[in-house]
Formats: sequence, structure tokens, C-alpha cells
Amino acid sequence: MHQPPLPSLTAADPEIARLVEGEAHRQFGKIRLIASENYVSRAVLEATGTVLTNKYSEGYPGRRYYEGQQFVDPVEALAVDRAKALFGVEHANVQPYSGSPANLAVYLAFLNPGDTVMGMALPMGGHLTHGWAVSATGKWFRSAQYGVRKETGRVDLDEVREIALRERPKVIFCGGTAIPRTIDFPAFAAIAAEVDAVLVADIAHIAGLIAGGAHPSPVGHAQVITTTTHKTLRGPRGAMILSDAAHAKAVDKAVFPGLQGGPHNHTTAAIAVALGEASAPGFRTYAHNVVANAQALAAALAQRGFDLVSGGTDNHLVLVDLAGKAIGGKPAAQALDRAGIEANYNTVPYDPRKPFDPSGLRLGTAAITTRGLGPDQMPQVAAWIEAAVAAAGDDAALGRIAAEVAELMAGHPMPGWA
Ligand SMILES: *Cc1c(COP(=O)(O)O)cnc(C)c1O
Repeated sequence: MHQPPLPSLTAADPEIARLVEGEAHRQFGKIRLIASENYVSRAVLEATGTVLTNKYSEGYPGRRYYEGQQFVDPVEALAVDRAKALFGVEHANVQPYSGSPANLAVYLAFLNPGDTVMGMALPMGGHLTHGWAVSATGKWFRSAQYGVRKETGRVDLDEVREIALRERPKVIFCGGTAIPRTIDFPAFAAIAAEVDAVLVADIAHIAGLIAGGAHPSPVGHAQVITTTTHKTLRGPRGAMILSDAAHAKAVDKAVFPGLQGGPHNHTTAAIAVALGEASAPGFRTYAHNVVANAQALAAALAQRGFDLVSGGTDNHLVLVDLAGKAIGGKPAAQALDRAGIEANYNTVPYDPRKPFDPSGLRLGTAAITTRGLGPDQMPQVAAWIEAAVAAAGDDAALGRIAAEVAELMAGHPMPGWA
């Protein structure tokens, strides 16, 4: 049953309640390897489902356009203070609705339409909002994109510098969605300084690792840091923009009134709760275990003959390149899903296949670490992955793997289900 229980929802709208229960049970029985997903705590779930959703609070604590902020103001102030303390930054804005609007606020703050932005190309591991052509950020701004070296699968900082010197971007984004290696924030900062650009570190994927000391911090290198709160950081769906004092005012003005209306106060409360959890000592253990699990999974997959982009991982993410196998990323991901293992297909750098049927599988270990799986169990997970990919199309064989997976996961409690 979903935790906390849903008696009123079940009575009022059994159709929706059934679907929510189904999703909770699905999350319980699967090995969830989608690199951007996690399990939030029951405390975060409770904060998300509160009457704070009823309140309008345009503005910032102490400077609102609506009355009745006696409780909402301290909630947001707590979230801001916890974010500043956890990441060691001078300023935090906790209002962006999600990662994409947080990045749009950065454009509004530091660029005019037509100005040049530089970011990692989407098929190389970047995010849509870093200037990719189909995104508003690629349509309304001039975009210069960098990638990774074909031989190493890693960012070539000499190339980044060359492009920056040639294109003179006003903003440079580092970070992305499919980068299995440590981001060299000092090197990006030196390049940004040379061309007088604002360096924005988008740490959406790795915020939890940074908070837990398992990845170097961009603080002191990037003037502006954007992040989602729901990936490795293990909070509700939402986002934050962190910055130094010099960029604080521009960030705040861009989020409100530049881009958004009222903040989602129930989400703000849940962000505060998640930030509190992330400052507790156990979170450091979690963050280091996420990396240990990813490295153990990568090693076990490599041993079974899977090609990994960059040969392995430094963080929570493993990008498997199936180009040498007889199967594409999409049918592989579909077979895995039937086998109780959830992942997403993904482009790999220099992918010979089309974006909707690419060569890659992206795997992440944040969610299974939250469930309490450890490095000793990663060889078994890799064995199931190999067996499921080989059994694509054989529903009986995939069903047998799914039963074994469900049996393993039944021994690992999930916040949100009991
Ligand atoms: C997930 C992600 C985003 C976007 O977040 P949404 O909440 O999905 O809008 C932005 N940047 C990076 C690097 C991400 O991984």
C-alpha cells in the first residue's frame, strides 16, 4: 500500500488512487536504474502533500504581493538557509519550478535574445536547455556547442577553450545529463574568465554527490549554479539557483517577476526537508555508496563485454554503448523493462544511429542505493542486464528474470510503499 496511505483519495477518486497504488507497487518491485530518478523519503512525500499548495506567495520572504505569509515566509527562508549552508554559497533561490525553468531564468538574467551561449551538445551528454537547436534556448539565442573526444569519451578542454575564444559566449554551461566523468570546474572557470563569460554549472544530476562530498563542488569556480532537487539530491521535483552575492539580484529578478508567478510552497517545504536530510551524516554515506555502486556495476558490465562510454564512471552514471552488439538501445531498454529493470535508451557520442533509436543505454545507481543495494549485488544486476538484453523478444525468459528481480527488491524497503 502507498505510504502515507490514501484513504480520502481512494474514496473520492478510486480510478486515480488505483493508478497511484499501481505506480508505487511498480517502483517497489523493480530495479530502477534511470539515472535522473530516486526515491524520496516519506517525510518529503508528506511535505509535498500539504495545504501549502493552497497558498499564493509571489515575491520573496518579507517582500510578498499577497498577505498571509506568516508560515510560508519561514518555510522558504529555511529552505534558502539550508541550501546556502549545505552547498556553501552566498545566495540561493529555491523557487524555480524545475530544472528547465531554472536554466531559462539564467538566460533571462545574463543574456539578451541573439546573444551567444555555449554548452555541451545534447547527443554528447548535454541538456536541451544548454542551447540545443530544438529548445527555446537554441532558437532564441546563438548557440555554440562542445562535445567529447571520440577516442576518450571525455570533454576536451582545449577544444572548449578554442570554441570559447572564437565564439565569445556571454554564458558557458558545464554539466549535463549523460556525463559519467568528473566535471573539471576549475578548468571551465579559467576558460570563462578568459572570455569574460558567466560560468554556469548545471549540477542537476550530481547535486547529491556534491552535497555528500562524492564529487568536487563548483562553488568558488562557477558564479552561478543551477540544479534540480529530485535526482541524486533526493528531494521533490523542483530546482534551485545558487550563486555568489554579485549575481544574486539578477538571478532573483529573473525567476520572479521575470519568468514565474507564485512559487510552489508545498514543493519549497519538501525541498527544505530534503536539504535537512542531505546535511545529516548518513547522506555522505549514501553519496559515496552511489558512486561505489556505479563503479561496481560498470566493472561487472565491462567484464561481460559491454562497451562503456569513457570506459567507466566517476559518478552515479554508466553509459553503455551497444553499437558493437546486435541490438539498439531502445529494444534493449524495452527488454530490460519487461525483466523488471528500468533504464532509458540514450544517444552515445558520435552515435551512428538515429536519436529515437540510439545505441546507448543510460544507467544510474541513485535509486537502488536508496533502496540499500550495495556493490556486492552489482555483479548480479549486471548478469540480469546481460541476460535480459540477450533474451529480447522472449517474454517468458524476461518474465523469469523479473520474478528474480522482484524477489531481491522485496527484501529492500521503499519509502512510499509498505
Ligand atoms: C534533468 C536536467 C535538467 C532539467 O530538469 P527538469 O526538471 O526535467 O526540467 C536540466 N539540466 C540537466 C543537466 C538535467 O539533468
